[in-house]
Amino acid sequence: MPRKSKKDAGKVAEKIAEENKKVEETKVEEKINVEEKEKVEEIKVEEKVVLATVIEPQKIIPKVPEIPEMFSVERWKPITALGKKVFSREITSIDSILDAGMKITEPEIVDKLVPNIKSELILIGGRKGKGGGIQRIPVRITAVMHKSGRRFTTNAFVVVGNENGLLGMGKASAVESRDSIEKATQKAKMNIVKIMRGCGSWQCGCDENHSIKYKTYGKCGSVRVELLPAPKGVGLATDVETRKILRLAGIKDMWIKTYGNTSARINLASATFDALKKLYIYERQAAAEEVEQVADVEGETVVEAKVEEEQEAKKILEEAKKEVEDVEKEAEEDEAAEEELEKEGEAEGLVGAESEVETKGEVE
Ligand SMILES: [Zn+2]
Repeated sequence: MPRKSKKDAGKVAEKIAEENKKVEETKVEEKINVEEKEKVEEIKVEEKVVLATVIEPQKIIPKVPEIPEMFSVERWKPITALGKKVFSREITSIDSILDAGMKITEPEIVDKLVPNIKSELILIGGRKGKGGGIQRIPVRITAVMHKSGRRFTTNAFVVVGNENGLLGMGKASAVESRDSIEKATQKAKMNIVKIMRGCGSWQCGCDENHSIKYKTYGKCGSVRVELLPAPKGVGLATDVETRKILRLAGIKDMWIKTYGNTSARINLASATFDALKKLYIYERQAAAEEVEQVADVEGETVVEAKVEEEQEAKKILEEAKKEVEDVEKEAEEDEAAEEELEKEGEAEGLVGAESEVETKGEVE
């Protein structure tokens, strides 16, 4: 028995050891299984996250990140001499800049001096609408063919004005439509000009700035434009895009005649701007001519006055000389006469004196 028992005991021990090993192995297997499961779950979670990141933005599109503006008055550091003067408030009105004919090279100058400036987009773009025709859009999109396909650029045309005699226009292109609009606005601010207004209508006859003083012409490409002053109440008898420009310039009544391909809206707008710009140029030319004429007249009078003064001085000198000569002559004559008189007196005086004495004596 003891042998058996020993053998049995050994066997039992081996069996127990084997069982233990098996249990351990199963445990390890279980552990591995658990780890694998966790991994799989993690992958599933990751997949879910990936799906979420893909799907969620489509649901919540409208949140656009706020991009800081390229040009803002608060963070403006002036570069040009004119900009520094405006920044230090040495110049406080835009009229002085425009009257002096200075060129504005920083758009913040206009932002600073004209705080109530407004901008408007001219609809230069177009896409084919339903049922034919063109649907107008604010930005013109052009394409260039490349190896990899089409490359797009956007063009924008912006008008700025303060609705009180200031107007500017600008055109720019960029990849993003937003950038092109921004650039065009800055260009328009730098191209700002003064518009002379008035009332040139014989039917109205007031002196208010509701129309223009006289008719003008403008030109760009094939488009020619004729602007005519109109009486109060007529309104802006123009197309939609030109109306935007005239409203920003501060004109309320106007007639317009157009010739050429006026569906080219950039050319139409540029021609209108050209015509409006000429009003102030005419005024400045007229003022300069007047100044020249006045200067000429003043110059002539000055020269004449100088000549006259010299002549007068000569005359006075001559007269004085003549007077002196006359006086001398008179003096000589007087002397001569006195001498003669004295001689005569000497001859007659004695006789006279005697006779007087005689007469006196007779009386006494
Ligand atoms: Zn009037």
